[in-house]
Amino acid sequence: MKYWHRQTWPRLRNRSHEVACHFCDTLHQVDLIEEGQQALCMTCHQALYRNRPQSLSRAVAFGITGSLFFIGMLFLPFITLKAQGNVSVTTAGETVLRLWENGGTIIAGAVFLFIILLPLIQLCCLLYLCIPLSFGKNFPGMVFTGRLFQAIKAWVMVEVFFLGTIVSLLKLVKVAEVTMGFGFWSMIGLMISLAAGVGGIDRMELWDRIEVANARKKEPVEGGLQC
Ligand SMILES: [Zn+2]
Repeated sequence: MKYWHRQTWPRLRNRSHEVACHFCDTLHQVDLIEEGQQALCMTCHQALYRNRPQSLSRAVAFGITGSLFFIGMLFLPFITLKAQGNVSVTTAGETVLRLWENGGTIIAGAVFLFIILLPLIQLCCLLYLCIPLSFGKNFPGMVFTGRLFQAIKAWVMVEVFFLGTIVSLLKLVKVAEVTMGFGFWSMIGLMISLAAGVGGIDRMELWDRIEVANARKKEPVEGGLQC
């Protein structure tokens, strides 16, 4: 029996699958749906969950792309400033160090946490979950990683940093010549890749796949799979 299905994802048959609507709290029995479809709430007709086509492949692709952009954002020139004959080139990593050295400890800590550390953890979680799941494999700590992945979603704030950078640039262009470097464009790439990677796989699908991978590791579940 094949575990990976073109139309839907595998899940365990011997347990209940229920989901509550985020908008009206109506409890629904989760039925498997085909690729490209979404399940709607019976009460308020809002989306409950989706079956995104090629979800794992896309999540892995965007995760790897996001990792490359992340490295680019940290180490490539972010902004070049020219003013009164002086040229200053800064990377995103150096920005944190300079903030710290100039006494902006809290801001430096916040930038490091929300712009560097949490996106890094999110990318690692995404790849740690989706690469083995693509092959139906279970890696140690997948349940914990899945919970961490869901928990930090709201705390990754690359978009906020991007908007802050734009506002700062609007002020800086009045006093200096500003050139955006590859680091800046990498940040935009990271922002898009993170959104596409994280949003590329539904929470319902992710947990069903983790459960199946866990069950496969413990014992054969051919008889208990629902595809
Ligand atoms: Zn509803």
